[in-house]
Amino acid sequence: MHLGGRFAASGSRPRGASLSIAGLVLFSIVTADAAWPRTLTHSPKHHGPRLAALTPEPFLRELAAKHPPSKPSATGCTPAKFRIALDVGHTAESEGAISARNVAEFVFNLHLAQRIVDRLKGEGFSETRLLVTEGKAKPSLFRRVAAANALDANLFLSIHHDSVPDSMLEAWEYGGKTSHFSDRFSGYSVFVSHDNPDFAASLRFADLVGNAMKAEGLQYARQYTLPIMGRNQHELLNKDTGVYRYDQLVVLRKTRMPAVLLEAGSISNRDEEVAMQSPERQEMIASGVTEAVKEFCDPRWAILGPL
Ligand SMILES: [Zn+2]
Repeated sequence: MHLGGRFAASGSRPRGASLSIAGLVLFSIVTADAAWPRTLTHSPKHHGPRLAALTPEPFLRELAAKHPPSKPSATGCTPAKFRIALDVGHTAESEGAISARNVAEFVFNLHLAQRIVDRLKGEGFSETRLLVTEGKAKPSLFRRVAAANALDANLFLSIHHDSVPDSMLEAWEYGGKTSHFSDRFSGYSVFVSHDNPDFAASLRFADLVGNAMKAEGLQYARQYTLPIMGRNQHELLNKDTGVYRYDQLVVLRKTRMPAVLLEAGSISNRDEEVAMQSPERQEMIASGVTEAVKEFCDPRWAILGPL
């Protein structure tokens, strides 16, 4: 996300010449044009019991009751048929946040999302699609939603990297120029929208992602409940997994399938930025997300392994 203005074009701070997305052409980008066979409903199964177990707060159970989970798929979960839309947050034109070392969030998002796609495909989720969207910020949000809906995906996951509100940034010299950072906060966070048509399933997947991050030894970002976050303050839905409620996010409320946004880590934090660039951290997150997808696809996976 870009906390300086979620729909605004980036570029309020100067970026160094070192910023380049030329390397991106190395990726084998699969666009949303690729059609999926429509043999499944976009309805993962068995959301109820796990949701209750993971979210003991009564108000959440009430919330989930108002939004009953999707009906179980008649065909069960077959990874090869389970369609995941992996959304790369922001665009080459509107790059999101700028890291402490002047690298665009979009570049981080693309690298990590590609690793997650590779990992999912390696585990048999061959119908996973990387969504790379072009253009200005706000229209791109609706384009990515339209792409996911057209694909009739079973699950939507948007990949972002976190920053802090501009007012919290401090100046330092990096690469011979004035750059901006904040080491105050770090960690991943997971967002869901109450307005998603399958909120219960969205919350269940978000909890699975948060649990997987925790299992990898990662901590979630605590600052979103703090008054200092102003309009970026959000309700913490699960204090164990780091899942926050963010109803207004277009990609979560307009998608017609369970949808979750993952802020993988803070790139305003100088130490965490270095970690987020490392293949080790990227693999760790890709592995966690893949485990979460497996269990979402079929909760028995966690107990029995591949079925
Ligand atoms: Zn972002």
